[in-house]
Amino acid sequence: MKNFVILGGGYGGITLLHELLDQKIPADTQIILVDRMPFQGLKTEYYALAAGTSSDMELRVKYPTHPKLNIRYGEVTGINLDDKSIQFQDSEVIAYDQLVIALGCTDNFHGVPGADEYTCTIQTFEATRETYRRINNLPPQSTVNIVGGGLSGIEIAAEIRESREDLHVRILDRGERLLSSSPARMSKYVEAWFREHNVELRNKINISRVEEDCVYNGPDERIAADITVWTAGIRPVPLIDELNVNQDNSGRVILDDLYRIPGRPEVFVCGDCASLPFAASAQAAESQAEQIANVVVAGWKGETPKVQPLKLKGTLGALGKHAGFGSGFGFGGKSSVTGRVPRLLKSGVLWMSKHHFG
Ligand SMILES: Cc1cc2nc3c(=O)[nH]c(=O)nc-3n(C[C@H](O)[C@H](O)[C@H](O)COP(=O)(O)OP(=O)(O)OC[C@H]3O[C@@H](n4cnc5c(N)ncnc54)[C@H](O)[C@@H]3O)c2cc1C
Repeated sequence: MKNFVILGGGYGGITLLHELLDQKIPADTQIILVDRMPFQGLKTEYYALAAGTSSDMELRVKYPTHPKLNIRYGEVTGINLDDKSIQFQDSEVIAYDQLVIALGCTDNFHGVPGADEYTCTIQTFEATRETYRRINNLPPQSTVNIVGGGLSGIEIAAEIRESREDLHVRILDRGERLLSSSPARMSKYVEAWFREHNVELRNKINISRVEEDCVYNGPDERIAADITVWTAGIRPVPLIDELNVNQDNSGRVILDDLYRIPGRPEVFVCGDCASLPFAASAQAAESQAEQIANVVVAGWKGETPKVQPLKLKGTLGALGKHAGFGSGFGFGGKSSVTGRVPRLLKSGVLWMSKHHFG
């Protein structure tokens, strides 16, 4: 039996899995899905779990069942591209004939001393539960520093405000404005929302170190907090650095035109681990997974594989449960929209994600 192994049951891995299960899988092939969790975690909503406004259960999606699918739960500790095997923490090893690496990303602490040790994060389900515990156990009137004013930082700050009105929430951002790579109109709206909801905004911040009860801006300015949440950058999971393959400046694996590791036609890389012409996102992971499925199925049929360019629809962000912002969707010719409509759209996208539509 040939093993088609998918490492990672997140946005990329599960989209690919659904695409393949819809096809005729060769009689001599089984698909093995590998993940540490017994369900897909909806990572795009981890900010709400951390704040306490969504429950653990709401962010889980069951894996599919199929006679050709085996699921191996466990922690992957190594990928050996030469002998085509996967190592697990419990010492088991499984062999693959074809492999898709879709293990997602982790925080990028940019070498800031103390950041790894003292900040809370939302990059894994487990870490997010711990962040939830710490935020929600804070005594009244405590202070939370959020490092990073991108999408994740904004969403978690707004959600904490909704969850705990008593906390002092502060966003520390490096740029001149929040969401610095989005239309200025959108940043203005988001900043106004935060001012109206008593969230402190500080820009042009350069974090030089983190301690248990503060961060330092530059060498000297101490900014105290009871908790610091880190949302200031990502990079692929550490297993990628051990592969000894070419990586881009963000650590993502550089691939050939069919999303395979050059010289290893049996190994695909998908989602946040893959060097794509876009920032890492669930949308990019899903769109790329569809194209990887085309390549795999063409191989099964003995046809020449073809891929279409990846298409991204745009960005949607939440400011609590009632307001939001979006850009890039067309929106009747506007470059961005703000308010209730993008928030409703975001809930719709989440619903589709849970039910594997779109
Ligand atoms: C707060 C937040 C908000 C976001 N909002 C958006 C948004 O609005 N729109 C958008 O497009 N993107 C958004 N993103 C980004 C999006 O979540 C990621 O880009 C997307 O999840 C990447 O998909 P993936 O398949 O590469 O990885 P993931 O979905 O992270 O899946 C990786 C899987 O691999 C498993 N895994 C990892 N390491 C191991 C191991 N060693 N052993 C076993 N299993 C392992 C994990 O358990 C996980 O299931 C957001 C991210 C965050 C954190």
